[in-house]
Amino acid sequence: FDFAAPSNEPVLNYAPGSPERAALKKQLAAFKAEVADIPMYIGGQEVRTGNTVDIRPPHEIKHKLGHFHQGDASHVKAAITAAMAAREKWANMDWEVRANIFLRAADLIATKYRYHMNGTTMLGQSKSPYQAEIDSACELIDFLRFNVHYLSEIYRQQPVSSPGVHNRLEYRPLEGFVLAVTPFNFTAIGGNLPTSAALCGNVVVWKPANTQVYSASMFMKILIEAGLPDGVINLVYASGPTMGDICFADPHFAGIHFTGSTGVFQQMWQTIGNNISKYKSYPRIVGETGGKDFVIAHKSAIPDVVVTALARGAFEFQGQKCSAASRAYLPSNLAEEIKTKLSAALKTMKMGSTEDFGNFINAVIDEKSFDKITSYIDNARKDPKAKIIAGGNYSKTEGYFIEPTVIEATDPHYTTMCEEIFGPVLTIYTYDAEKFEEALALVDSTSEYALTGAVIAQDRYAVELATKKLVNSAGNFYINDKPTGAVVGQQPFGGARASGTNDKAGSQLNLYRWLSARTIKETF
Ligand code: GLU
Repeated sequence: FDFAAPSNEPVLNYAPGSPERAALKKQLAAFKAEVADIPMYIGGQEVRTGNTVDIRPPHEIKHKLGHFHQGDASHVKAAITAAMAAREKWANMDWEVRANIFLRAADLIATKYRYHMNGTTMLGQSKSPYQAEIDSACELIDFLRFNVHYLSEIYRQQPVSSPGVHNRLEYRPLEGFVLAVTPFNFTAIGGNLPTSAALCGNVVVWKPANTQVYSASMFMKILIEAGLPDGVINLVYASGPTMGDICFADPHFAGIHFTGSTGVFQQMWQTIGNNISKYKSYPRIVGETGGKDFVIAHKSAIPDVVVTALARGAFEFQGQKCSAASRAYLPSNLAEEIKTKLSAALKTMKMGSTEDFGNFINAVIDEKSFDKITSYIDNARKDPKAKIIAGGNYSKTEGYFIEPTVIEATDPHYTTMCEEIFGPVLTIYTYDAEKFEEALALVDSTSEYALTGAVIAQDRYAVELATKKLVNSAGNFYINDKPTGAVVGQQPFGGARASGTNDKAGSQLNLYRWLSARTIKETF
């Protein structure tokens, strides 16, 4: 079976008067008019515990969208049991039958549930319609379709045979279950982490962030409608420690597919290490864990290109992307012009509810994030090494709103140049335009992360130098562009160092981690 490379799902633009704009508005109104009662999905059963957690839009915290039913250790155990019960049949199913389920899910999103996915993402995670469209519609559809194509290419990779000897590789799934732990910030990541492992024949226990449950449960319903057999993916809402305690102590634990913080990933890795003698095989540990992503402009850069890269790279989706530009290095010959133009651009960005499509900036995800982000702003206000040159205001009366904020640091190692903030805060530092190579060394040595980064220059020599000197500073390196917005099939995504295991999401490199090959030699 040959699943040819798909095209990327076209991005709808939601222009005033467009049919997609009217359809999305209608769906948003329908979601706002109901109070959703969201169960867990374990072994194909809807499970309600009565222990509910409210879901509210981060931009309108007085409104209740619904609630989900929180599970405990017994539900995590039930999910593992259901997964293991489904395993043999799923692992032995013709792989194209498995593949067609995920392709059907992609088509269902494209044609029937696009506005449900975008609507739940806009309301539950406070994404603008455009940010939701590229995430919960296009990127999720692309993950589902491209993974099928990539897996078909992997299956075709076979060793050579010789007269009288036939050799082949059988790409088995892992012998156990995979735990998928997914973050709030991309609905597409929520969809990709469980389904990429499942496509390869694995069974999955999926724990989304509480702040992602609204869209994650919508996607789960679509998978069921697409024909996903009971128990293959089990959606459980339990606390992180409960999930960890149960899953990592289970002898059937075979791997984790994670996106979240570096600290949590390191703790998980340690726990898995401590339990290593319990498992049948060495578990696969795959994680994407954050970034402190840079933009460095060269003295030959076009200032407007830098301004766009920073305005979009740092502030789309309120900077809540692992890839967001959060430290910028400006050459002294252009710094004033770029700062002035950037401040002017930020003033044109409207902030408010996602339901007003004219707003560019919406709310950050929850109170904990709001408090963390604003504490960096408050500290910068007091510190002589930093100056707030744009934004800096915030309020949590209606929702968790923080203005796009630019801090100028006189010390290149100032806290906000080094630590991941995960919010709409960009820090800039001006370097001597004649010392580009020194600035590159600074970029490389300042952060423990290495996820994304960008160089902006017209001078080709500067581009080549940056590409070479920053070889290990970013897993996704952009030339004359913002460091965000990787497209599945075009820019496989992931980074090393403290940013993760760099098993590029949406590529063969990722799928290999969910396969355990058997070599078969047959002699005639
Ligand atoms: N893939 C996304 C991008 O390129 C970022 C994913 C993330 O934030 O984890 O912008």
